[in-house]
Amino acid sequence: MTWRFALVLEPAASDDAREDFAAGFREIDPSAPALSVGELSTQRGDGIFESIGVVNGHAQEVAAHLERLAHSAALCDLPTPNLEQWRQAVTVAAAHCPADGEGVIKLILSRGVEHGPAPTAWVTAAQAPDNTVVRERGVRIVTLDRGYGIDTPARAPWLLLGAKTLSYAVNMAAIREAKRRGADDAVFVSSDGFVLEAPTASLVLRIGGRFVTPAPNGGILHGTTQLSLFEHLAVQGRETAYETVPVSALAEADAAWLLSSVRLAAPISAIDGVAVAVDRELTASFNEYLLSPRT
Ligand code: PLP
Repeated sequence: MTWRFALVLEPAASDDAREDFAAGFREIDPSAPALSVGELSTQRGDGIFESIGVVNGHAQEVAAHLERLAHSAALCDLPTPNLEQWRQAVTVAAAHCPADGEGVIKLILSRGVEHGPAPTAWVTAAQAPDNTVVRERGVRIVTLDRGYGIDTPARAPWLLLGAKTLSYAVNMAAIREAKRRGADDAVFVSSDGFVLEAPTASLVLRIGGRFVTPAPNGGILHGTTQLSLFEHLAVQGRETAYETVPVSALAEADAAWLLSSVRLAAPISAIDGVAVAVDRELTASFNEYLLSPRT
């Protein structure tokens, strides 16, 4: 990934009503060292983030991402972000993404430096990897036990399972395990046999004429891409549903996709070593929609 742009911002109070926050944005060299060695984001993964897809210079679904940033902050007892300040930082970063092609903007809010006075916040922009092949050919997934039951998030909210925290080492380990097993990606399942999400994507199944995704009941992230696709499907008069999905539904579904902000819709082409049908036409229509400007 080629880093093109980075800026640091001093997180404003959520009720700071300034109209223009740009004066407080400090652009930094994206390839130079920038963080203090005492940063709790690097020492403990103690912080939250968002990855926003950018298509032809347009940052997609910014409001939904900012809403989720605020939700993650609340779960992690971080100060409530000033969403207008972050929105303006996204606008500045989007101007540094390719005018023609795809980019990715990351928003990071860390608890800050150990014993420091305030959280640290920064925004980066980079060129997105080329996902054309994966959107067409799809991904082979393996199911991996996430190690908790479907009711664990409600009983143990301190696990922060519904927050997009910087602690993604487990998610990355799952993808490595999937590759060791000859697949491309993983789908987490609960220890009591329900489908959850992928390490960096939501899951959507087509079952008959319905589009179903596991309910974001605190154990998984509510994906902005899935949410946007469901709105689009509803406008088309298609039925969508949030459900508790048993693992058996995965292999029985007519089609299934991983959905995320940068990769967009990647059809699942194999599950635990067994090839499954890919609906190329429907996938292409999903990605056409997901690549169109969305707010
Ligand atoms: N679930 C997890 C664990 C993720 O990391 C992501 C995205 O990074 C998603 C789901 C999909 O979210 P979005 O569509 O907002 O990118």
